[in-house]
Amino acid sequence: MDEQIMLNKLLEMKNFQQSKKMYSYKDRVNSLKKLYNNIKEMMPEIVEALQKDLCKSEIESYMTEIGFTLNEISFMCKKCKKYSKTRKVLTPLAQFHAKSYEIPCPYGCVLVLSPWNYPFMLSIVPIVDAVAAGNSVLLKPSEISPNTSTVLAKLIEKTFEKGHVVVVEGGKEESTFLLEQDFDYIFYTGSTRVGKIVMQKASENFTPVTLELGGKCPCVVDETADLKLSARRIVFGKFLNCGQTCVAPDYVFCHKDIKDELVKEIERQIVIQYGVTPLTNKDYPKLINEKQFNTMKSFINEDNLLFGGRYYENTLKIEPTLIKSTFEDESMQDEIFGPILPIVTFEDLDEAIKNINSYPKPLALYIFSSSKQNQEKVLKYCDFGGGCINDTIIHIASNYLGFGGLKQSGMGAYHGKVGFDTFTHYKSIVDKKRWIDLPIRYQPYNKLKYKLIKFFMK
Ligand code: NAD
Repeated sequence: MDEQIMLNKLLEMKNFQQSKKMYSYKDRVNSLKKLYNNIKEMMPEIVEALQKDLCKSEIESYMTEIGFTLNEISFMCKKCKKYSKTRKVLTPLAQFHAKSYEIPCPYGCVLVLSPWNYPFMLSIVPIVDAVAAGNSVLLKPSEISPNTSTVLAKLIEKTFEKGHVVVVEGGKEESTFLLEQDFDYIFYTGSTRVGKIVMQKASENFTPVTLELGGKCPCVVDETADLKLSARRIVFGKFLNCGQTCVAPDYVFCHKDIKDELVKEIERQIVIQYGVTPLTNKDYPKLINEKQFNTMKSFINEDNLLFGGRYYENTLKIEPTLIKSTFEDESMQDEIFGPILPIVTFEDLDEAIKNINSYPKPLALYIFSSSKQNQEKVLKYCDFGGGCINDTIIHIASNYLGFGGLKQSGMGAYHGKVGFDTFTHYKSIVDKKRWIDLPIRYQPYNKLKYKLIKFFMK
């Protein structure tokens, strides 16, 4: 997109913010309601775009993209009034007599850069949280999911007033140009590599950032786990969207004594959930492009293949595949982001925890176990963004839990109240009364004043 057009969009956002229209919670809720209705109205177009970009079925698109987003909008519409209120806080005795409070204020103009794997949900949900908090947003969706990008541009244009939420379609060139501009907040979802660039660019203008990144999410299964149920839930979380989910279990890390039985159960579940020939299952999505397809293929070889491994070059589909691995293998060096599930074993849980901690901190971690002690040990000693006990990925679908990583898997979080807070600056105010003005803090100092200061400040 032409640079001048992008600058004009930014100017429109600034003007919109200056007009302070969105400072009323009612205006924010009204625009979110309009967004809700327009998403419902445009559902067939959204489903079609997701089908074209990722071969997602209608039910998967609704569950993980459209329904997920509608749910966040409904939640924000209900809570926006409460969250937008000025919050009274206590005042220390030393500041007698005063009232103290925090005023939630929007940052202003927010830049949202989104990825291709859940191209609808990961674009709109940050917008919902940012708009609920009173901001204007410029969205730059991923160029790698072009059909969804077009529908997003249409939806936004149809829904929001000029300058409230705007879209710039394009790729790296547009992102680079936008990152040169002075936004008040940057919200980025995508790879750790680009996350680093975003943070560097943001630092030039002291712009706060949220980084929603990726990583290798371990799925620990100990010898006490219910293997049938574990397998069912692992297969769901791993092969949803053909494994292209930032919180998908990247690898299974299981106790050596239950490995064979667990693998058998996972195989059984793959057949139950995806059929004997997943490659012809129309509800099974595809890899986003040839590059990803070839990367996935390179992880499979005769020696490591446990199950699956077949693929269709022309549809970019690879069936759910299990491989046996060690931490030295190529598949264990980087986030997989596809339908290949390495199975790695451990003998002792403490060793397993050490191994997990020798990797960059993951976005999610899952522990399948019936032992309270083992569950607590893993939760306490491993660092990760969020996760589940005896399930996978569902923690991100709660409006009552923040979603985000730490260090290499990101910084900051969103969804629900946490999302509102992310896009809000709280102004801390002391309202000092005038009828009394204790002289203790003023010069000239003396011994009595010093004594009183010590009494109040300890
Ligand atoms: P990406 O980093 O390639 O792209 C994301 C966005 O950044 C796109 O809008 C893209 O146009 C832009 N971009 C790409 N290169 C850029 C550059 N050099 N400078 C500036 N902007 C640039 O990410 P992706 O491949 O679309 O997504 C996959 C990654 O995202 C995986 O690692 C996955 O784990 C992660 N992810 C994280 C979350 C999360 O919520 N934490 C969600 C989905 C995906």
